[in-house]
Amino acid sequence: MYNFAPSKQHKILEVIATTTELENSLMPLRAKGLKIALVPTMGALHHGHLSLIAAAQKQADVVVCSIFVNPTQFTDPKDLEKYPRPLEHDIKMLAEAGCNFVFMPTVEEMYPSYPEPENWKINLGNAEFVLEGEFRKGHYQGVTQIVFKLFNAVKPNVAFFGQKDFQQVLMIKNMVAVLNLDVQIVTCPIIREEDGLAMSSRNIHLSEEDRENSLVLSKALFFIAENYHRYSLEDLLTTAKQIINNVPGVALDYLTIANGDTLLPITTKTGHNTVALIAAKVGETRLIDNVIINWIVG
Ligand code: AMP
Repeated sequence: MYNFAPSKQHKILEVIATTTELENSLMPLRAKGLKIALVPTMGALHHGHLSLIAAAQKQADVVVCSIFVNPTQFTDPKDLEKYPRPLEHDIKMLAEAGCNFVFMPTVEEMYPSYPEPENWKINLGNAEFVLEGEFRKGHYQGVTQIVFKLFNAVKPNVAFFGQKDFQQVLMIKNMVAVLNLDVQIVTCPIIREEDGLAMSSRNIHLSEEDRENSLVLSKALFFIAENYHRYSLEDLLTTAKQIINNVPGVALDYLTIANGDTLLPITTKTGHNTVALIAAKVGETRLIDNVIINWIVG
């Protein structure tokens, strides 16, 4: 599906569990002046993740994928417990994609005092507390905490994230700015199933009926994007919400047409930085998705 371009430096995927091992492997490559890319994931890899690996291979000489189910970003312990962890499958996928290193640390490696919490609190701006931040309190402190630790361990020149987690990329960019980190952040487009459902490790939890119902999320977003210039903001949201409410088993958390920097709902249409975001529970599984309506960088 993707045009993988494995680095010639390393033909075989190296599986690494500790930061010391990682540093021993990466230091000589860094010393040679090679450009190192990091693709942070929580595993249960799918084509969305692979698209990040492929993008990383295009821009860097060495690609490190991390697989770590980060406990500090989960607000629901049941969600953490049932998060899929098909490690053998993941390693096979990364090897086939020509990824150079997979970093799979233990929880103790990343959080030596676990389950005692560490003192991590940074100012991510007001956008931390809306949308996902409202439904998953403290989520982005946990996300930035682990991404900072992964940046420290890998010391990448560039790191790749998916637009699928739109707010997450914004929070990571804010962290990089606040802490003056020397790493470039690249955002990659959402990879979808043929019928429109955004790929996600959580899709595995969907029953056959949920899977059918889940299509309504992308349907509502596409409706907004396609009709953005035809209807008022209010009518767009009303109709999109009706599309969702017509499907039993789907409970909407939010659907918004927002400014992509503040994540606050827009009140008048502008020609730039507009994104529609949605989160809903489909059966027992919570899914998120978004579409960029228009985007002008700068
Ligand atoms: P996760 O393993 O869910 O934490 O995701 C790891 C990275 O893959 C994050 O940067 C996600 O935004 C990205 N990602 C997840 N799903 C997709 C997708 N369908 N398309 C593109 N990127 C994705």
